Formats: sequence, structure tokens, C-alpha cells
Amino acid sequence: MIVEVKPYVLDDQMCDECQGARCGGKFAPFFCANVTCLQYYCEYCWASIHSRAGREFHKPLVKEGGDRPRHVSFRWS
Ligand SMILES: [Zn+2]
Ligand SMILES: [Zn+2]
Repeated sequence: MIVEVKPYVLDDQMCDECQGARCGGKFAPFFCANVTCLQYYCEYCWASIHSRAGREFHKPLVKEGGDRPRHVSFRWS
């Protein structure tokens, strides 16, 4: 079975995890395109969710200037 995923990043999307509660109501800067997530996250929730075992390798899509989301490598240190 092939699952096709077409992620996109919107400007005014709230964090799906906390609905803005943990990040002061800011819009979510990250979208996780991994099939186990498929959610928008604020920075706090991204770090929290992706510190769980098996999710460390997820890569966020971030909105950056233009309308095309791009993959970025990410390191929480
Ligand atoms: Zn959040
Ligand atoms: Zn994820």
C-alpha cells in the first residue's frame, strides 16, 4: 500500500498539539510530514513530541518566504 502525502504549510495554522496554549497563541511554524504525525507544531510541541523514541528522525517543513515548503535539517541541542 502506498500512501501519498502532500504536506503544505499555511501562515495562519495553529499548533495542532496545544492550539497555541504553550507558545503564547503564535501560529505554528512547523509541519511534520511524517505519516505518524501529519500535524502542525509550535517549537515547544515539536521538541516535546519529537523527543519520543522513534520520532527523532522526523524533519519539519517550515514556511520560509516563498510559497514552497522545504525540508530543513534540525538539531535540538
Ligand atoms: Zn504547540
Ligand atoms: Zn513528527
